[in-house]
Amino acid sequence: MFTDKEREIKPVSLFDNNDEPIEPDGADVKKRNVAYYFHKDVGHFHYGQLHPMKPQRLVVCNDLVVSYEMPKYMHVVQSPKLESKDISVFHSQDYVNFLENVTPKIAMSYSDEVLRKFNIGEDCPIFPGIWDYCTLYAGGSVEGARRLNHKINDIVINWPGGLHHAKKSEASGFCYVNDIVLGILELLKYHKRVLYIDIDIHHGDGVQEAFNNSDRVMTVSFHRFGSFFPGTGSIMDKGSGPGRYFSINVPLLQAIRDEPYINLFESIISSVNENFDPEAIVLQCGSDSLCEDRLGQFALSFNAHARAVKYVKSLGKPLMVLGGGGYTLRNVARCWALETGVILGLRMSDEIPGTSLYSNYFTPRLLRPNLVTKMNDANSSSYLASVEQETLQCLRMIRGAPSVQMQNIIGVRLDEIELIEANERRSQSNIDTEVSEAASKMEEECYLEKPGECEQVVPPGQDPRRIGQYWGYNGKNLAPPRSRSDVVEEEKYRELERRKQLNLPGVP
Ligand SMILES: [Zn+2]
Repeated sequence: MFTDKEREIKPVSLFDNNDEPIEPDGADVKKRNVAYYFHKDVGHFHYGQLHPMKPQRLVVCNDLVVSYEMPKYMHVVQSPKLESKDISVFHSQDYVNFLENVTPKIAMSYSDEVLRKFNIGEDCPIFPGIWDYCTLYAGGSVEGARRLNHKINDIVINWPGGLHHAKKSEASGFCYVNDIVLGILELLKYHKRVLYIDIDIHHGDGVQEAFNNSDRVMTVSFHRFGSFFPGTGSIMDKGSGPGRYFSINVPLLQAIRDEPYINLFESIISSVNENFDPEAIVLQCGSDSLCEDRLGQFALSFNAHARAVKYVKSLGKPLMVLGGGGYTLRNVARCWALETGVILGLRMSDEIPGTSLYSNYFTPRLLRPNLVTKMNDANSSSYLASVEQETLQCLRMIRGAPSVQMQNIIGVRLDEIELIEANERRSQSNIDTEVSEAASKMEEECYLEKPGECEQVVPPGQDPRRIGQYWGYNGKNLAPPRSRSDVVEEEKYRELERRKQLNLPGVP
């Protein structure tokens, strides 16, 4: 039996004196050099009513980001849609052709053998618009990498991306196209060494596999290990060939708490930064590592999750921040909205603004409610100390600057390497002109960058979201369609609240 005190997570602190409060009047707010990708369609796809992956979480997260008035501090950019040639940079052509053409109806006509080959099934179903979904969530990661390459932005955020399980020729763990691998391949055109950090509760197997032989990409994954999907990522799995010691796996056990997690995270990432010295960082922020996740089994608070993001930001390298897993819808939205604020250096009020279209959906109406776990922390301090020691030992093996010569990295075709070299030979002045042209083109596509449009179109007192200014909504599809499991979950919360008010028994 657990007492209330034992079950409640004691959160580590998050905000400090350097964080600014959100200004009530944003007229003269200086934009940070942060690009934020979103597309009005990306949250409206459905894996299936009972499937735990719900792209609607992106719509709710965006609503919070807007409610906290964060768009005025950053460049909001519409995610571009990738083409099949962009996806086949990593994925095999037959798999890309399959994804591009398949529909639920066509899938019915395929043999089991074909579906098995691409790992289509319960976890990775074929749903309407699957290709559009993949090309949209990956678009922000690839174009975001280009923004970093050309120094248009210091940090890019793409919450729809981060689908780390997808393999070269098959879907896996709710992921179809590996936008992270595509983004890193793009970064490698301009950066000698790229660091990938993964704080999703699941091992970032698809990304590690793609760069397992490379010493130009270091992958570091903190995940639950042992009888847990995908089953890979042991501490002895360190990469191979020239990539030996460039794959770091930090296997953790159930219900890890804030302090030990953050201590281990900061110790390892600080050593990685010192020994590998990355020129760019990609951070996958899967929020299924939060306590109370529908599939996850860690006991991290919102503060601890966001502290990891804050720490990576403090390293001051070009940074791409991506989403990933996360299956308790309201907490995913809270987590990524909070982390958007952390990236912008903002101190956010804990009360969710009344302007949120989903304010009644959050119970309690707090950004960082206390989370409770019913599990014992299985990570003893001696276990964590041995994981830390082994990892730091491994990092010492790479000291002495890794090879930075261009090599035939998995997924990078030879013609592309020629392109990279041609790019490098070009004079800096040419690149500068291209950069500024590309920047103005991207800004034109940004909803919020059209000067004066909001003032002209929005009648006084009207919420700009309702007439499609922020995210291009037509005003009809504001609420994400609810699945049966969402409704059941909401009912559960309502009932709990009712019981709390009535002081009924059985309330934790
Ligand atoms: Zn996950």
